[in-house]
Amino acid sequence: MTRRLPIVPSAEAPRAQLVHDAPAAPPWDHLPTVEWQVCGQCNYDCSYCIQSKKYRVGYPTAQQLDRALTVLAELDGRWEVKMTGGEPFASRLFFDQIVPALVQTPHRISTLTNLSAPVRQLQWFAEQCGEKLGIVSASLHFEFTTTDQFLRSLTAMRDAAHAEASFVVNCVLAPAHLEAVARAQQQVQDAGFRFFPQLMKVKHGLFPYDDGQMEAVRNIVGDLSLATRLRTANMAPAYTGRLCWTGARYFVLLQSGDAWSCRSARRYDEGYLGNAYDGSLSLRTRPVRCAYPLCPCTVPANRGMIEGVERSPR
Ligand code: SF4
Ligand code: SF4
Repeated sequence: MTRRLPIVPSAEAPRAQLVHDAPAAPPWDHLPTVEWQVCGQCNYDCSYCIQSKKYRVGYPTAQQLDRALTVLAELDGRWEVKMTGGEPFASRLFFDQIVPALVQTPHRISTLTNLSAPVRQLQWFAEQCGEKLGIVSASLHFEFTTTDQFLRSLTAMRDAAHAEASFVVNCVLAPAHLEAVARAQQQVQDAGFRFFPQLMKVKHGLFPYDDGQMEAVRNIVGDLSLATRLRTANMAPAYTGRLCWTGARYFVLLQSGDAWSCRSARRYDEGYLGNAYDGSLSLRTRPVRCAYPLCPCTVPANRGMIEGVERSPR
């Protein structure tokens, strides 16, 4: 059961402070995780994409990937490497270099994908990862695919994966697509997949849904406060004032090689951990007390990094 802690109102200028008398790792069940933004390259161009177009291009060079993979291989213990993009499957380097190197590490391998790769490539990925495959978070984008096509690919990938691997379907609650999202939710669940709707984010926070749109969102998500608490949808909650081990047991590694403690910290130009390509990356040894008014990413919460938020069982 998730314990509820009081939310401390955010200060005007957020500054997360290191807490020196706290342990180096969360004293509860957690999974150290790196979210690796492998590339910016993406074969889609969704109208609601929060990644600005200038960052939605390019794949690191083979040499840069080698350095990043070396850093990941040297992480202490068993981590989860969750690959994001852009679209990780968008380059041959993913198949020829990244996956073969990652499967040699002890780490759990997860990926976020728009599932546009040919089915045989999706199956290859599941087979190569074997027992190390953790979570496939597949994002359904109606502007570029249909629910039927998407589910055919995802089902084929699941059939090639080991039985304990998790498959989740993400879907942005874009105002223009709310009816399509509601229809897809049923189809996705009927096919035996978890459906994870996400409030649409815009540059400075959440999209300002009007009353009618909010009603449609509620019909999909259900009780909004319950969904926030149970994390059955990404409601971008706030954990301001709580201890958080991002930067120590979780970090974000960008395609530039730069590493940040979490995405909110980066937005405020805080939490820089160094660069994986030039050898300067160094993790914190203590948690911070969160100072940010929004925690838009689900991974730190789901992997047990935040005080009072239990690790998700998947
Ligand atoms: S698939 Fe993802 S990264 Fe690519 S354009 Fe759409 S939202 Fe952006
Ligand atoms: S991951 Fe969330 S809780 Fe942790 S510091 Fe960042 S915004 Fe705060």
